[in-house]
Amino acid sequence: MDIIINSLYSNKDIFLRELISNASDALDKIRFLSLTDKEVLGEGDTSKLDIQIKLDKEKKILSLRDRGIGMTKEDLIKNLGTIAKSGTSAFVEKMQSSGDLNLIGQFGVGFYSVYLVADYVEVISKHNDDKQYVWESKADGAFAISEDTWNEPLGRGTEIRLHLRDEAQEYLEESKLKELVKKYSEFINFPIYIWASKE
Ligand code: ADP
Ligand code: MG
Repeated sequence: MDIIINSLYSNKDIFLRELISNASDALDKIRFLSLTDKEVLGEGDTSKLDIQIKLDKEKKILSLRDRGIGMTKEDLIKNLGTIAKSGTSAFVEKMQSSGDLNLIGQFGVGFYSVYLVADYVEVISKHNDDKQYVWESKADGAFAISEDTWNEPLGRGTEIRLHLRDEAQEYLEESKLKELVKKYSEFINFPIYIWASKE
């Protein structure tokens, strides 16, 4: 984890590209399933295939929500749970020999780029086949998962809450976020909305 954070630090904007790309993948998956079974989309807001970004200056939280396929408890453990994923060591090796910061997305470790800007991350997720869960982890590699009995029900999908590091407060600026979203959403086929809290 430290190696990843240190080697990418000069390019920390990319966390947003990785989150948008994961949200887009999750939306693609539910849209694909809906081709054969319309019911999977649910009703009302749950059926809207979009990405919502919220900036909470007071709490210093940047959150990104999608109404994609979501993750079951098992998915959260398997997909986010461990830095010892197969891609990690291959990534670190390649990173060190090439110095190419853009490799992170290609090795299946893109999610970990959130720790470039956040020291604590909560992932709230609801998959059609399971209850709503919260996965949480600090940058130390340990994580916890619990059934979510306190947040607003998502309907379906995933909300990622980044508790931003002191040195990453720039990502709470609406103008900065708009610029990055514009840059990273070029090939994204879903609408992306940004909400900023008043100061
Ligand atoms: P990759 O996208 O290359 O697989 P990541 O580290 O970016 O690697 O993400 C790891 C996995 O976590 C994804 O493959 C996916 O299964 C899961 N995941 C991450 N973000 C989301 C999301 N917003 N919705 C559903 N699943 C997600
Ligand atoms: Mg990814």
